[in-house]
Amino acid sequence: MRKTTPANIKLTLYGKPIELELSAPAEKVTPVAILPALHRINNTFVETAVEVFVADGATISCQAGCGACCRQVVPLAEFEAYQIAGLVEQIPEPKRSAIKQRFADGCAKLDEIDWLGQLERMLAEGTTHEAVQTHALRYFHSGVACPFLEAESCSIHPVRPLACREYLVTSPAEHCRNPTPEHVKHIELKFQVSKIVRKLWRTNHIKDLDSVPMIYALKWVKRHPNQFPKKRGQDWLREFFNYLANP
Ligand code: SF4
Repeated sequence: MRKTTPANIKLTLYGKPIELELSAPAEKVTPVAILPALHRINNTFVETAVEVFVADGATISCQAGCGACCRQVVPLAEFEAYQIAGLVEQIPEPKRSAIKQRFADGCAKLDEIDWLGQLERMLAEGTTHEAVQTHALRYFHSGVACPFLEAESCSIHPVRPLACREYLVTSPAEHCRNPTPEHVKHIELKFQVSKIVRKLWRTNHIKDLDSVPMIYALKWVKRHPNQFPKKRGQDWLREFFNYLANP
């Protein structure tokens, strides 16, 4: 069993005192191994934001069994792509093969419209944020569901990506079936763990894109072996919280 080091963090979020009791691997690891701690941090940040927004009168439209947003592109931090690929390998057969097939079918469908190639060219040319958002809508309209979506529910809910945890909608749920920036309103999080770690931790594998679209994760991991440095879990967490204090 892996030895862990406790890390107790106190901070103030939206004016509320927060205490986080975390544990991180004592040995030197890549950031993939601190994902459980990042999930806990993310959950706490999101839950705190929801309490504050709901107290201010907002209503969260997201409910179990609504997987409308699971047809949007999911931006993974580079190291999350390794977590997702590892997770798929642990799924027993025949489900594992079925999920791998969904990844492959999704990529094939998006390749028909050269979705990823176009995105890479747009980012290399310094396209506007609005143009990238419009391109993201092409992904949605291609109808590629997340390979982990089953009966409109997330089949990997406890270990789902950071970005999925942060997507909470306050506009009516039916707007998510035809999402546009004007019609879909989200909870604006003070700290988005997914964005922070994408900025903080990446290797030379990642160039113009700052993330790996989840549907490409299995292909991407095959082409790009994990080259992250290894550090003690507490050192990765220290870097994270130092960034939070001085972004
Ligand atoms: S991982 Fe789960 S929550 Fe995220 S897009 Fe896929 S099904 Fe939806």
